[in-house]
Parts: sequence; structure tokens; C-alpha cells
Amino acid sequence: MNTMATSSPILTTREIETLSSKAQAAKEVAYCPYSKFRVGACLLTQSGEYITGANIENASYPVGTCAERTAFGTAIVAGQREFKAIAVATDISPPASPCGMCRQFMSEFTSPSFPVYMYDKSMKCTVVTIGELLPGCFGPGDLDK
Ligand SMILES: [Zn+2]
Repeated sequence: MNTMATSSPILTTREIETLSSKAQAAKEVAYCPYSKFRVGACLLTQSGEYITGANIENASYPVGTCAERTAFGTAIVAGQREFKAIAVATDISPPASPCGMCRQFMSEFTSPSFPVYMYDKSMKCTVVTIGELLPGCFGPGDLDK
């Protein structure tokens, strides 16, 4: 894992700041009456759009979904297919890492070098890639083998 606060070889400082602030703001709309575990996400598309998501729980617990998947789902139905980075913000420290289902979901639309900026309760950032989160994953190319 690499810990980075303000810069990245891939994103500009302004992009990172926007991602972090929008992910933080998205926590405010999380629907999590059961766990009280707020998660906000913000996805940056290759075309420069920022698309947010938050976790959405359900009285039937397994039906709930995560912030990362709501952000990607919103982007996909808006016609987006190429992405630069995602930021995920929680209220804990160290920051929460995406769950296994989200890792697989995000890998469908990203490359192994896709960065995931994880923010803790103090907005301290840890950056990991999809390849680090889900090495050797099953992907679209495996269906053709
Ligand atoms: Zn998840």
C-alpha cells in the first residue's frame, strides 16, 4: 500500500481534492439506519465528470448495496465506461477498504492500475490499485477462453 496525501502521478491535485470533497459530502446522503456506517464515494470519469454514490441499506440486510457500486452503477447507466479514479470516504480510521463484491464489480470497468483513494475519518488518504485489491481476478476476457 502507498500512502499519499495530495498528489498522484495519474491525477492532478485539483482532481484529488474534488474527489475527496465529493466523497466526503456523499457520506451525508448514505442510507444506513441499521449499521450507522456511512460510506460516500466519488468516481471520476475519463471525460472529467464526478459521479457520487453512497451506501444504501435495506431492512432485508443482504439487499443493501455499497457506495462504490452505487457510484459505478449511476455512471454506467449515464453511458460512462471509462474511469480515472474513485474516492471512498468513511468515518473510521484507518480507512475502510472496498468489500470483495465491490472489488469484483469495479474490476469489470477498470484496469489493474486504477487507483482507489480511501479516506479515513480525518480525511487522511491511503491509495491502492484495483490490482492490489483483487489480484488474479476473473474478468471479461476469461469468458472467451
Ligand atoms: Zn462493497
